[in-house]
Amino acid sequence: MKDMPNILWLEEIRKEDIISVGGKGASLGEMASIGLPVPRAFVVTAQAFRMFLVETGLDQKIFTLSDHLDVENNEALEKAADSIKALVLKAKMPAAVKDGIRTAYKKMSDNNMIVAVRSSATAEDLPDASFAGQQETYLNIKGESALLSSVQKCWASLYGARAIYYRAKQGFDDRTVNIAVVVQQLVRSEKSGVMFTSHPITGEPLTIIEGSWGLGEAVVSGSVSPDKYVFDQRSEQIAERMVADKKIEIVSDGDNGTKSVAITGTRRNAQVLSDDEVAKLAMYGKIAENHYGVPQDVEWGIVAGTIYILQSRPITTIGNKKEAKGMSGQKKEAKIILQGQGAAPGTAAGKVVIIRDVKDTGAVKEGDILVTRMTNPDMVPAMRKVAAIVTDEGGMTCHAAIVSRELGTPAVVGTKTATQVLKNGQIITVDGEMGLIYDGELEVAAPTKTMATPAAGASAPGSVITATSVKVNVSIPEAAARAAATGADGVGLLRIEHLILGLNKTPGWFITNNREEDFVKELHDGIKIVLDAFPGKPVWVRTLDAPTDEFRNMMGGENEPHEHNPMLGWRGIRRDLQSPEQFRLQVEAFKRLWKEGYENLGVMFPMVSHPDQFTAAKEMMGGWGVDVENVTLGIMIEIPSSAIMIEDFLKAGIRFASFGTNDLIQYTIAIDRNNENVADMYQPKHPAVLSLIHGAIQMCRAYNVECSICGQAGSDPKMAVWLVEHGIASISANIDAIAKIREAVARTEKRIILEAARNRDAE
Ligand code: PEP
Ligand code: MG
Repeated sequence: MKDMPNILWLEEIRKEDIISVGGKGASLGEMASIGLPVPRAFVVTAQAFRMFLVETGLDQKIFTLSDHLDVENNEALEKAADSIKALVLKAKMPAAVKDGIRTAYKKMSDNNMIVAVRSSATAEDLPDASFAGQQETYLNIKGESALLSSVQKCWASLYGARAIYYRAKQGFDDRTVNIAVVVQQLVRSEKSGVMFTSHPITGEPLTIIEGSWGLGEAVVSGSVSPDKYVFDQRSEQIAERMVADKKIEIVSDGDNGTKSVAITGTRRNAQVLSDDEVAKLAMYGKIAENHYGVPQDVEWGIVAGTIYILQSRPITTIGNKKEAKGMSGQKKEAKIILQGQGAAPGTAAGKVVIIRDVKDTGAVKEGDILVTRMTNPDMVPAMRKVAAIVTDEGGMTCHAAIVSRELGTPAVVGTKTATQVLKNGQIITVDGEMGLIYDGELEVAAPTKTMATPAAGASAPGSVITATSVKVNVSIPEAAARAAATGADGVGLLRIEHLILGLNKTPGWFITNNREEDFVKELHDGIKIVLDAFPGKPVWVRTLDAPTDEFRNMMGGENEPHEHNPMLGWRGIRRDLQSPEQFRLQVEAFKRLWKEGYENLGVMFPMVSHPDQFTAAKEMMGGWGVDVENVTLGIMIEIPSSAIMIEDFLKAGIRFASFGTNDLIQYTIAIDRNNENVADMYQPKHPAVLSLIHGAIQMCRAYNVECSICGQAGSDPKMAVWLVEHGIASISANIDAIAKIREAVARTEKRIILEAARNRDAE
C-alpha cells in the first residue's frame, strides 16, 4: 500500500485518495475542494487501520477465525463475528495513530468540539456499502477518549456478521479489506433540509429546496411538512414559495441521540429560510451540479446564519419519498443508472439494443429498448417497434423527442453516455416522464408502451371550450388519429419533413431519378390522412424544413452540402426558394388537396427572416397556378428578425403567424437546442424571447391576424398561461400535452374575465 499518513484533512484529500479515505471521505474532500462549505473534518485513513491490525497482530488472529468459516452456518458466522469484533475493540491502538487523532482533534477545536464519527468504506467496487456493513455512525462524540473509542468501534463494524457474509459471497478477500473513519464537526442545525439542484421530473434549471426547523432528519424522514422554495436559475429569482405548517422538529437530546419536539408559537408558520439563504443554497447546489455533471440531491444545515453542505450525491436511488414521484410502487432498491430529459412520457422495460449505425437497425426487435447517439429519420421504422428510446444527445425538441412523443413511445434524451454505460442485452426500465433509466425491470413497468390515450376528466375532449384555440402538432401521419382524439381545434403544425425523410430518399433523389410523381403522391397521401382526421378544422402544413445533416443518410444524401452549422444553414424557405423544383413538388401536392376540397389546408413557411421571402414564395406559388389570394398562407416566427419585422410581414399579407420557439429561443440567446451540454441554459422564458413574442402578438392583434405558437414551449402550461395573458389567439401543443394546456388556457381565460368583472364592479 502507498505510504500515506494516518490522518488526512478534508482539504488535503483528492479523488484518487478513495483507497485511503473511503467513499465518504473522498466525496467530502471533493466537495470541500470545489468550495462548498463542508463542516470541518479529518479522516483516520485506511493505513492507520492497517497499522493497527499489523502492530497488534490482529491480522493473523482475525484471519484464523474467518479463513475456514462457513458463512452459511449462521451460528458459526455470528460467533466468529462477535469474537473478531471483541478482539478489535480490546486491542491497543498504536501510539502513532492515537497521537495523530488527538492532535487533529485539538487542531479542530480547543474546546472539545462535538463531532460525528463515521466509517467510510474503502473498497471502491463494493456496490452497496451499507450492505457491506460499513455505515456505522456515532453522533455527539465529545472528548478525546470518546473519540478514540468511537474510531475503534467503527473499525470493529467491519466485522459484523452481515458484512463478513456479504464479502464472502462477493469474493472479497477479507485480508485486504480496509476501513477509513471520518471525524467531522457535528452541525447542530437550527434549520435544515434537502435540495434538488434541478427539477427532478423535468430537468429544468429550477432548484427545489425543502427546509424545516431543527435537524435534517425531520425533512429526510418525511416526519414534517417542510417549507418549499423553488429558485429559478435562469432569472435568479425565487419562483415559488410555500410556507408550511411545521408541527415538529428534531433536536439533539443531551449528548446522546435526538428527540422530536412540538413546534409552538409563531415559528410553526414562519418562513424558515430568508431569500438570501435560498439564493445562496441554490448557488451551492449549482456549483455541485456543475462539478459532478448531473443533478444532485443535497443535504444542508444552517447554524447561526452559516450554511453547511452536509452531503451531495446524484439522484441514484428511489428509496426516499422525494425521488419516488411518478413511479410509485416499484421495488425500493431500484437503481437509477442514467439520467436525461424526459422527452416522451410513459414507462417501459426491455432489452437494450445499441444502434451505432442505421444499418444495424435490423437487430431491433419488437419490445426492445433502442439506445443510440441520436435518432435519424431513417430510424423511424425501428422506432415504431421498440418499447422505449434512449439517446446520448438532444433536448426536448430533437428528432428523437418529437417522433417518440407522436409514436407514444417513452423516451429519455440527452443522457450523454447511454451508448457507453448501457450494454447490449441489459434489461432496463425507462421512465420517459422523469427522464430516468433504472437497472432491471421494475414491477410497475408494463412491457409495452404506456402512452396515455387522450385525457379523461375535466379536460376531456369537448368538455372545455376555450376562446383561445388549442391545437395539436403532428409530424407523422400515423399519429393523426390520436391527435384528433384529443379534440384539438386543428393542427397548428404539420411537419412534412418527417414524412419525406421517412421515405429514405431526398427530394433531390426523386427529382434526379425522374420520380417526381412518386414524391408528390407520398406527400399528398400523407397530408390527406391528417386532413381527414380534422374535417373542417384548420390544418397548417409546413413546407420542408430539414437541415442538410438529416438528409445525409438517405438515398441522394451524398449530394447534400457539408455544413459547419446546419441549424444556421440551407434549410426552410431559403432552400425552397433556391430549389424551385423541390418547392414546386410540394406545392403540387397542396394544389391537388385544395382541388379535392380541403379548404382547411393552410401552408406555413419555415425559417422566414425577411418579408421578401414570403412575397417570393407566394409569387412562385401563384406562378404554378395557386390562387394565392384565396388560400391561407402564413409564416413561422422562429428567427428574431421575423418577430422584429412582423409588421412588414403583416403588410405583405400573411394570414397567420406561429412562433417556432424551438428555433426562436436558440437564435435569440445563441443556445443550440440539440446540444445537451448547454441544455440547462436553454431558456424558453428568457426576457428577450418573451419580449419578441409579446411584440409580435400585439402587432398581429392590431392587424387582426391569427397569432399562434407551435414550438415546444406551447406544451408548457405555465407558458400557456403567459401567452393567454398576453393575447395569443391559438396554442398548438404536443398530443400528450393537450389536456393540461386546455385546462391552463380555460382557467386563465376565466380568471381574466373574473378580474375584469371585479374591476368593473369596483369602479
Ligand atoms: C420550432 O422551431 O419551434 C418549430 C416548431 O419547428 P422545428 O422544431 O421543426 O424546428
Ligand atoms: Mg423550427
